Amino acid sequence: MNFSDDPTHSLIRSTAAKIADQYGPAYWREKEEQGEFAEGFWDELAAADFHGLLIPEEYEGAGMGMQEMGIAMETLCAEGCGMAGTWYLVLTAGMAAVGINKHGTEKQKETYLPDIARGKRNFSIGITEAKAGTNTLNVGTHAEKDGDEYVINGEKAWITYSDRADNMILVSRTTPREKAEKATEGISLFILDMDDPGIDVSPIPKHAINYSKSCEVFFDDVRVPEENLLGEEDAGWWALVDTLNPERIGFSAAATGIGKLAAHTAIDYANEREVFDAPIGTHQAVSFPITKAYAQMETAALMRQKAAWLYDQGEDCGYETNVAKAVAVEAGIEAVKQSMQAFGGWGYAKEYDLERWWREVNLTRLAPVTQQMAYNHIAHEIGFPRSY
Ligand SMILES: Cc1cc2nc3c(=O)[nH]c(=O)nc-3n(C[C@H](O)[C@H](O)[C@H](O)COP(=O)(O)OP(=O)(O)OC[C@H]3O[C@@H](n4cnc5c(N)ncnc54)[C@H](O)[C@@H]3O)c2cc1C
Repeated sequence: MNFSDDPTHSLIRSTAAKIADQYGPAYWREKEEQGEFAEGFWDELAAADFHGLLIPEEYEGAGMGMQEMGIAMETLCAEGCGMAGTWYLVLTAGMAAVGINKHGTEKQKETYLPDIARGKRNFSIGITEAKAGTNTLNVGTHAEKDGDEYVINGEKAWITYSDRADNMILVSRTTPREKAEKATEGISLFILDMDDPGIDVSPIPKHAINYSKSCEVFFDDVRVPEENLLGEEDAGWWALVDTLNPERIGFSAAATGIGKLAAHTAIDYANEREVFDAPIGTHQAVSFPITKAYAQMETAALMRQKAAWLYDQGEDCGYETNVAKAVAVEAGIEAVKQSMQAFGGWGYAKEYDLERWWREVNLTRLAPVTQQMAYNHIAHEIGFPRSY
């Protein structure tokens, strides 16, 4: 076991901290209020090679792993970007790049990976459907073979970036669940061009993270060439799973990152704010709840590093990933909540950002996997009967 800091990791941390310094809380407050995509920040991530962290060097990426991606995300979040530090990396640079690199054809890799690395291509990931919900194996979106094309019909919900993305990785059934031998069979992934005729996108008004839109997407006889199948027909479930672990590791980094951002903001405030002739931080009722959450975030971050290490070695990491996600989210939410409490009534004012971070961090208990489903996975792994 070697916990000494790697020079590459230090460089990623200092680069991320510099970006977060430039794109700090005031920038995100404005983007949130205006509901505007952060073009400048996106381009800055490209300039720092962060979009290409997981892409091999031969496709113009940095050839690194989830360990480095986790460090970049957590630092961006913690040093001032809040959830945006993960949000702008997780779908395209995290999931799409990983899916295409692991399962794409040579042509797909050449077409998409260098563009992703350069920040020239934005992907959305189309998994969720209103009817199927968390039970992805029940998706109703269907692709039917017609000559050398597939014809896609169905609808998705909550698909982030689908209003502006160039492409979508779509999860679709090619064999209906009732006709497949196993529920995990009959799923296929497709790379869609969002300009294809028959795709209609409608944003869902939402609670927070309005510097990107999450939308309903409707597919009406969308024709996709067969070379846009990602991986094998009917065997897309396992390719999808390969992208879900990086997403959960990313959200684990987001939860501890935003929790640390809120905590440090509250610690600064608690050192200055005097009410009964002493800084409020001298009261353990103020300092301990934040300190306790901080200690839990430190532990969760270590579990994230273990999950990322296993992922980077190509080993199973489902259990560690779900543990890291579940505990990071509880600790991160508690850190933001207690930091907001330390601000008293001012925690409710937009100018101090705590109320926005509170709205943002709450997403981590709902997506990409709910806390209940993460605990279902852990419960089963430690020996309880499967509950679903
Ligand atoms: C802002 C935002 C952005 C999103 N972006 C994307 C995106 O880009 N792409 C995408 O595909 N999806 C996206 N999602 C969707 C998100 O992943 C889902 O909302 C989430 O997985 C939960 O699905 P659901 O809302 O249908 O909940 P449901 O499946 O309806 O679940 C409702 C509740 O029941 C609980 N529950 C259900 N089954 C069980 C069980 N067996 N045991 C215990 N509890 C259970 C759940 O935990 C949950 O609390 C996004 C969501 C949000 C809010």
